[in-house]
Amino acid sequence: MRISVIGCGYLGAVHAACMAKLGHEVVGIDVDERKILELSAARAPFFEPGLEELLHEVQETGRLTFTTDLSAAQGSAVHFICVGTPQKKGENGADLTFVDAATLGLIPFLSPGDVVVGKSTVPVGTAARLSTLVTNQEPNAHLVWNPEFLREGHAVSDTLQPDRFVYGVGDGSEEHPAVAILDEVYATPLSAGTPRLVSDHPTAELVKTAANSFLATKISFINAMAEVCEAAGADVALLADAIGMDDRIGRKFLNAGIGFGGGCLPKDIRAFMARAGELGADQALTFLREVDAINMRRRTRVVELTRELCGGSLMGKRITVLGAAFKPESDDVRDSPALSIAAQLQLQGAVVTVTDPEALPNASRRFPELHYEEQTEVALERADALLLLTEWQEYRDLDPYEAALVVDTPNILDGRNVLDASKWRAAGWTYRGLGRP
Ligand code: NAD
Repeated sequence: MRISVIGCGYLGAVHAACMAKLGHEVVGIDVDERKILELSAARAPFFEPGLEELLHEVQETGRLTFTTDLSAAQGSAVHFICVGTPQKKGENGADLTFVDAATLGLIPFLSPGDVVVGKSTVPVGTAARLSTLVTNQEPNAHLVWNPEFLREGHAVSDTLQPDRFVYGVGDGSEEHPAVAILDEVYATPLSAGTPRLVSDHPTAELVKTAANSFLATKISFINAMAEVCEAAGADVALLADAIGMDDRIGRKFLNAGIGFGGGCLPKDIRAFMARAGELGADQALTFLREVDAINMRRRTRVVELTRELCGGSLMGKRITVLGAAFKPESDDVRDSPALSIAAQLQLQGAVVTVTDPEALPNASRRFPELHYEEQTEVALERADALLLLTEWQEYRDLDPYEAALVVDTPNILDGRNVLDASKWRAAGWTYRGLGRP
């Protein structure tokens, strides 16, 4: 099939490459010329494991091209909208400027029977509104909402082998003409057994925001338990193992630490609260305010703990922050808790050095006032405290004996509770985890 993918960021670039891998003829379109130049040269414009190899593989087949010209969408049967939906400045709601611009820009190039497929995360009600815009101009086109659940760091495999597909179509029925067309797009994963659910527009939109709210709640739940464990002298990691053995609870997403960040969970739960307010259902989501507050409190807690580790004052202390990305295997620093903590420490007088295997270019654009060091060994030199804030494997694998020789004072705060505390203590370190004695 001929497919266009509008918006080639973390979601869209991977989606375009994966659609070509599935055998379709794909054009990726973005307003960002730099991104399009990189992608056209089969270079990934951001770090995502396996993406660059996939770009090479599919571009050799001639099935994948990139352009900044939206008219290249003409002739495609399916058009995926993958543009960003960031938080509005100074408000909780989602900024739909990009989704609206992409959809309106696409309309002149639609033909009868075309399917516009929204993948961006949007407030409930957006699909119905955009569907009216599309069908006013091209009555025989269809608009589907097909939310995306990929995880950065696993985006390629999550796109090629997703857990499930959700198709939100106008009448919510299996017989809607767009269902068969999307089935053809996803024929390979569907034939491998990926479940697919057909719903109306609002249900499909809500599936995505509900999923993200649940995940955020699970993380804040265990972080709230970490606060209680700290007060009571208990160990949240063992607590998580024990409650996670109940398969109604499950162990995944129950790691206490510095909390969630990134370009999705924080802005999605805020946009969900804002939208529920507009719908008169704000009471239903007041708990998300607490989820957000618990999450933000983690960052201040780490600053306090670092001050304690440094003997009561941060002034002039050399702090090395291991990790800048919001999670390992990604260079995404949007709302990264690691960088937010680094910036707060610096504001309070610490001399902060941040290191990360992939995210330093993005980090230095966002927080130019911080000091960055590419080499981990150099970043460790003469530190008064190490803070492990993004759990890259190379930081998990650090040798506490070797590291102790380089730093000034062997203090470590394990913001992700991933290190073996007894091993670090045995090597002479003062070790602090979160929610652990
Ligand atoms: P991103 O910022 O990395 O990418 C968005 C891209 O859209 C940018 O490259 C931008 O230049 C482009 N763009 C903006 N306006 C455009 C226009 N009018 N025409 C063409 N291109 C345009 O964002 P992202 O992380 O890829 O997220 C995109 C959407 O997917 C968001 O709604 C997000 O919530 C959702 N989502 C993201 C992920 C993820 O892990 N990143 C997962 C699931 C869902």
